[in-house]
Amino acid sequence: MSPTRVPRRIISALVLFVCTGCGSPATPPSAGDDLNATVLRVQSALDGRGGRMGPSDIVVVGDRITGILPHGRGRGRVIDLGDATALPGLIDTHVHLGWHFNREGRTPSSDVEETAEEVVLYGAENGFATLQSGVTTVQSLGAPVDRELRDAFARGILPGPRVLTSLAAIGTWSGATPEDLRAVVRARHEEGADLIKIFASASIRVGGTPTLEQELLDAICGEASDLGLRTTVHAHGPESARRAAMAGCTTIEHGALLDRATLELLAERGLFYDPNIDLVLRNYFENEEKFLGVGGYTAEGFEQMRAAVPAALATFQEALTVPDLKIVFGTDALAGSHGRNAEELIYRVETGGQEAMDAVVSATSLAAESLGMAGEIGTLAVGMKADIIATRGDPSEQIGSLISPRFVMLDGRVVRNDGH
Ligand SMILES: [Zn+2]
Repeated sequence: MSPTRVPRRIISALVLFVCTGCGSPATPPSAGDDLNATVLRVQSALDGRGGRMGPSDIVVVGDRITGILPHGRGRGRVIDLGDATALPGLIDTHVHLGWHFNREGRTPSSDVEETAEEVVLYGAENGFATLQSGVTTVQSLGAPVDRELRDAFARGILPGPRVLTSLAAIGTWSGATPEDLRAVVRARHEEGADLIKIFASASIRVGGTPTLEQELLDAICGEASDLGLRTTVHAHGPESARRAAMAGCTTIEHGALLDRATLELLAERGLFYDPNIDLVLRNYFENEEKFLGVGGYTAEGFEQMRAAVPAALATFQEALTVPDLKIVFGTDALAGSHGRNAEELIYRVETGGQEAMDAVVSATSLAAESLGMAGEIGTLAVGMKADIIATRGDPSEQIGSLISPRFVMLDGRVVRNDGH
């Protein structure tokens, strides 16, 4: 393998390692004089790993951060963001990018036929709203349309976030034997999925009981791991989450009804935990008439979701006290909540009691780690992708500052700049 074939992720991880080793918050400006450089001048910055920097010039060349210098030292095209705070673009580890209200204002159903063109444009609208709100990477869990959206946004013309997708999910409907399910995982990989999404419990609307036997979860997560794919598991109750942990899956989604023993097991086995405790539920209640009557959206189901609000909050508060539990940011954004993603973080801090800096980390470096992309995104450091947002206040002190950032950069391209 020639040096030019070394994956960029590995190269940037090495660059980051070297810089971390140099021990200086400011990097010598060898690249700072580059005429192609863009300099983001800010009053303060959060590195996404819990660190704060004072007045800084963040130097960007191409799609990478090439320097972080003291205020006024950067050379290049200066974008002065005044008293703003810069931080890595947010990473939402659980959205449904294509999910929208149809032309009758309802969640999609077979009553209203939609063309493929309509469906992809709704997804593009969702992607635009998401990116404008400061979320520069999403993991969509997932639908076939995600693949086209992912590839279109990646071409860099149509504004939308970096997308990772599971495409369609795997569950009881996918097969009855371990071999069936291994074959489905391989097929999903062939189709271009970035990860595998699994339903291992029923919906919270019907009690969240386990739906997949241990040997089936072992087969899915084992096959995915052999192919180098991560696995995210929809699991509300303790038993389904426990099985997923024993099967070596990567992340537990929702987990509204988990007990302390299960949360400790997740920490012990190194799983990530993505609780969705506010936005998805509140959005359902705000838009109840747009869902009621379609599929499993019944009046009883809505009662179950209302009952889940205090349960999910109590579980989250318990989770905060579990040592080494890796709680990541994810919203389960669906029709009605794209672009409102940060509201989940605000609830986690203001109602759930999470430290604001921890919430920022959960949506930046820790979320990147959960996606296997810690060497590329989620940290403001030399060598990382230039996915950068800037807010009017400091989100590590005022989490509400994350609502409507004044500046958004993705891959070194400015996609939002409201000025001072
Ligand atoms: Zn979901």
